[in-house]
Amino acid sequence: MTDRTRYRKATQVLHLGRDPRKYLGAVNTPVFRATTILFRELADLELAARGEYAGLTYGLHGLPTVVDLQNAVAALEGGFAALAVPSGLTATTLPLLALAKPGDHALVTDVVYGPTRRFCENHLRRLGVDVSYYDPLAGAAIRARLSAEYADRLRRVAWIADVRGARHSGDRGRRARAARESSLDNTWATPLGFRAFDHGVDISVHAATKYIGGHSDVLLGVIVASEATRPALHRIWTDMGIAASSDDCFLGLRGLRTLAIRLAQHQASALRIANWLQARPEVAEVLYPALPGARGHELWKRDFTAASGLFGVVLRPVAHERIAAMLNGMRLFGMGWSWGGFESLIIPTYPERSRSVTRWQAAGPSLRLHIGLEDRTI
Ligand SMILES: *Cc1c(COP(=O)(O)O)cnc(C)c1O
Repeated sequence: MTDRTRYRKATQVLHLGRDPRKYLGAVNTPVFRATTILFRELADLELAARGEYAGLTYGLHGLPTVVDLQNAVAALEGGFAALAVPSGLTATTLPLLALAKPGDHALVTDVVYGPTRRFCENHLRRLGVDVSYYDPLAGAAIRARLSAEYADRLRRVAWIADVRGARHSGDRGRRARAARESSLDNTWATPLGFRAFDHGVDISVHAATKYIGGHSDVLLGVIVASEATRPALHRIWTDMGIAASSDDCFLGLRGLRTLAIRLAQHQASALRIANWLQARPEVAEVLYPALPGARGHELWKRDFTAASGLFGVVLRPVAHERIAAMLNGMRLFGMGWSWGGFESLIIPTYPERSRSVTRWQAAGPSLRLHIGLEDRTI
């Protein structure tokens, strides 16, 4: 088969993870609903019982729709292999559970996805793993902290990194040695916006619920692993019986086909709206790294190849009733959690509630916007 990864990204998303010749010429890999897989001969079953059978043995793991999604995302991001899981949150937490042992230290970015922080506090600590948080914009200080504070007693670090900050801290090889395993939540950028494995990350996880699914109708996570981390991840994924369904993976694959063109539109419209907001007197700051002049823009330009349609806005101090009136009066923007679908969303955010080592200094309230695929002029 041709190596599809030599094509440009927008072309790859159309062709990875499907092979019509296998399925009567059908363009897309169909949904496989199967639990029992029948063996042709006793010898095959006996091989399977010893774990030595190459084919599919049971519906929990290895159905073609699932495998095709896993292979597509792994290839797109330059990882060794991928595992599909039932939600983005499973994708962020399973690597921690797979890799951290009692006595280890997990160093986690202070801006980590809130429920991932909750998992660290409620479960990693219970398992005897030390958890601390770092300022993702600390740059070289991240590495300094790693070597000075932990080098002696470090056995393993599961590092959920904002690589924009972490890469400041030195070249790839040095950083990889400093943290024994690093894991990145790459949901915002998608595999198209940031090639995690080119930056020395060991594990990259995606809430495919967001842009890969793209239509606000599927919960799905993908864990992309390096060759070295794949065995431990595969072990726990198998032992815990964590499988994403074929139906959900079908939707993941369907979303993937249009990811490049959707993402380009999300980014173009988001830039327009971010620009407009930046000039408004009600706005103190627009938090969108793709916006020239915004915080983190230089790092974004250096490391990223695309941005998505999700960004934050800090308002100047304003009465709560006026915020409520604005949000309640929206016509095209809906109010709700999650993002990455075709629709525009707006919600208030409370960053000050989920920081422990950095301080959220804003005087006014914050909003989070997801810019959907509406026409750029109404
Ligand atoms: C939404 C999200 C998740 C979790 O995804 P679910 O499928 O909703 O569990 C994880 N990480 C980030 C950055 C997210 O935005």
